[in-house]
Amino acid sequence: MSVLFPRWVWDYIRSVGGEVVAEVRGWRFDVVGSRFLARPSVSDASSPCPSKRDVWLRRVVRVRVDGGVFTLGRAVHDVFLYPFRYRDRDVLDVVKGFERLTHGFDPQLRGYRDFFRKLFRRALTLAMYSLEDSIPISVEPMVPGAAIGLSDFVKPDLLVGFIPVDISLASGGEKSFERKEIALSGYALAIESWIGHPVDFAVALYIGIVNGDPTLSWRIIRIDDVLRRSFLEARDRVAMIIEHGEEPSTDGCSNTACPYAIFCRGGK
Ligand code: SF4
Repeated sequence: MSVLFPRWVWDYIRSVGGEVVAEVRGWRFDVVGSRFLARPSVSDASSPCPSKRDVWLRRVVRVRVDGGVFTLGRAVHDVFLYPFRYRDRDVLDVVKGFERLTHGFDPQLRGYRDFFRKLFRRALTLAMYSLEDSIPISVEPMVPGAAIGLSDFVKPDLLVGFIPVDISLASGGEKSFERKEIALSGYALAIESWIGHPVDFAVALYIGIVNGDPTLSWRIIRIDDVLRRSFLEARDRVAMIIEHGEEPSTDGCSNTACPYAIFCRGGK
């Protein structure tokens, strides 16, 4: 049985442990400090929009979008994390708590109830095994982010030892994976700046829905210098947008699936 991560993830990390050579460490404040006063969040820095106009809409214009894939993604995330959050409680209480959680979900998610139950059972099993094996896991820990130019606190979904883990609904292919790499590099740098311990790996968990059943697919990310620098560039780019308030262009964007499209093309 896997203890949160499948066996191959642990084996891989152990076999290449110590091989990641990185100059850009979170404790190198001369390298990772920001030139801007504005402090974006990790999700700002890893925004999917090529021009980062979504960040400008959220942080400068202050528009709010919700619904659709956001609602489902958030529910999947909450269901998976629930048993980890309460893994030291009585199992029956955790099950009852899960039922309460799903009753509070948006009615548009009613058709996913059976899926949520199956996903919860899988997460509960993983949470119980990891408790039995004393794997240290924190759920959405508050990691200080200001030292690396981010918001006061950043919250990776899970911290397994010193390994940040991001959990999301599977969608979006390789582009979405690049975003995860940027986000997890930001968490790694924040953890390094906080505790002064190197964080060389992170893990992305994608939760899929196949014929109503949950699928879990894990990807390991080596937090090398290329990713660390990409994160810092993305952070500076969005910090500049927030600080100066300049409107990024929509040129070349034909993304009709973007939840902000209505604000970019006025519904055209
Ligand atoms: S519609 Fe295009 S330009 Fe507008 S926020 Fe979305 S991706 Fe960016």
